[in-house]
Amino acid sequence: MIVLEDFDLPHEQGVFGAVRRHDVHTGIDFYCAPATKVRAFHGGVVTRIGPFTGPVAGTPWWKDTSFVAIYNERLYLTVLYGEVSAATEVEVGQRCSRGDCIGAVATVLKTDKGLPRTMLHLECYRGNPFEDPEFQPKEWNLGEEQLAYLIDPASVIPEIYRLTWNPQWGHSMSTYSERTHDCLPDSARSVRS
Ligand SMILES: [Zn+2]
Repeated sequence: MIVLEDFDLPHEQGVFGAVRRHDVHTGIDFYCAPATKVRAFHGGVVTRIGPFTGPVAGTPWWKDTSFVAIYNERLYLTVLYGEVSAATEVEVGQRCSRGDCIGAVATVLKTDKGLPRTMLHLECYRGNPFEDPEFQPKEWNLGEEQLAYLIDPASVIPEIYRLTWNPQWGHSMSTYSERTHDCLPDSARSVRS
């Protein structure tokens, strides 16, 4: 996969829309070694770099990590690479190309609970929500409707769709993807047909 050289597929808790103990999962987790380089899926403009987890982000039970968001105009799609440390040369407003290194994966979990502690959390938004300076990535609380702008990465990135398709995860792939399907760009719709 272009975005990570070496990784493990998400388990059931790590796919989009997975209902977990405290929240609903807003992205897809790819497990990998700390400091694994992260490369952009699509070219575009860096629209925001900010804290993603840890004390500064308001979630002190996790370690400090950041996110980098890149907006691709043609696809009308923002891809957020979370739980990373951003590369020092990456700046907001900069254009990047598919395959450019934008940072490295950072360890998010403080304690070892028998699951991997380091992962790329990949999140997707329809359009360019970071245009609004007030917009921040949010927790999806249990019982809430799917958050504004948020979409299933598997529904818009064919490579992720192929990698993560698993009938056992039908709840996330069918329920949430079908709901977001109508607002996808044409290029993404063909993936599902
Ligand atoms: Zn995640």
